Amino acid sequence: MIKTDVVIVGAGPCGLFQVFELGLLGLKAEVVDSIRQPGGQCTELYPDKPIYDIPGIPVCTGDELTENLLQQIKPFAAGMHLGDEVTVLRPDGDGFYLQTDSGTEFMAKAVVIAAGVGSFQPRALRASGIDCVAENCVHYRVKEPQQFNGKNLVVLGGGDSALDWVLELAPIARRITLVHRRDEYRAVDASVAAMREMVASGKMDLFENAKVTELRGDENALESVIVTNKAGETFEVVADHVLVFFGLAPKLGPIAHWGLDINRKTINVDAERFETSIPGIYAIGDINYYPGKKKLILCGFHEAALAAFAIKQRIEPDKKVHVQYTTTSPIMHDRLGLKDDEE
Ligand SMILES: Cc1cc2nc3c(=O)[nH]c(=O)nc-3n(C[C@H](O)[C@H](O)[C@H](O)COP(=O)(O)OP(=O)(O)OC[C@H]3O[C@@H](n4cnc5c(N)ncnc54)[C@H](O)[C@@H]3O)c2cc1C
Repeated sequence: MIKTDVVIVGAGPCGLFQVFELGLLGLKAEVVDSIRQPGGQCTELYPDKPIYDIPGIPVCTGDELTENLLQQIKPFAAGMHLGDEVTVLRPDGDGFYLQTDSGTEFMAKAVVIAAGVGSFQPRALRASGIDCVAENCVHYRVKEPQQFNGKNLVVLGGGDSALDWVLELAPIARRITLVHRRDEYRAVDASVAAMREMVASGKMDLFENAKVTELRGDENALESVIVTNKAGETFEVVADHVLVFFGLAPKLGPIAHWGLDINRKTINVDAERFETSIPGIYAIGDINYYPGKKKLILCGFHEAALAAFAIKQRIEPDKKVHVQYTTTSPIMHDRLGLKDDEE
């Protein structure tokens, strides 16, 4: 059980900046995100695209903004729990109990939901027979690569995940086949070139402009898949496992069941403290709604600052929370871990 001041659900730009704003006020945070890297939409949807409307940064990519935020929050040493979805959130005594799908438990004095457009989930494969074959033969993420030792693998997709796993698993698999619905790839050029070289030297098989339309086998095992190309031709490929990398799509997911006042796919908050209908649970960034809401990163940053002040006041109701400048305040410098000569 991890005890902390605040658990932040979501490591998108707003969740990361929330760590900073809480840290300046002397509050400790733990951050949980269902995807394996921080940055939310910035890293998941547009890592290389330029953003022009972050105050003071004329231009940066999604990845660069995330890197800068991680650098900025370093002094506060927040616990990062990536690749883990918060599934349970309920009031417990004066605080809140949270649990993730891997079983990690938290007790927090307050919670900030910075869940953006929801939890990113893998897009599912739709193919006939998928409900009849052994569930553990269809994979959307690789947790234990060694389980594929000596197996016939069919990998689906044309992005970095698909190509990375093809290159990593090819040496240990019995045979590996990549099936991609186009002949252009979203993966980095070097990976595509390496994959093509393996195909040319007969080390793996490739179907382009094709998809897997059927899975054959029974509840104990997968035996083969049927690949259908654009011309309607079909091919049977022997397969022990299918690895599906069709990208991730956001879903509100467990948040819908936490008893909050939900407005379509957003959470209603007040525009002063960004508190939800449950006192002590706050929501910032794309996930919240209040009159005038704009889904912009800079708006989420403002919300993080005000939510931090509200949380500090909630945790220490008898103390007045003063605004202090990071430029001049020794307390801020101390919390930022700055030494005198760095000030
Ligand atoms: C193509 C594109 C370009 C954009 N360009 C700009 C721009 O130029 N300027 C701008 O201001 N905005 C831009 N945006 C919008 C901006 O990206 C969002 O406003 C911003 O990402 C919201 O940040 P967030 O932290 O609220 O949520 P997100 O970035 O969505 O992050 C939320 C995180 O919460 C996680 N999460 C959700 N539920 C759970 C759960 N139950 N447990 C664990 N984790 C969970 C998700 O996995 C996700 O990683 C753009 C968006 C897109 C798609």
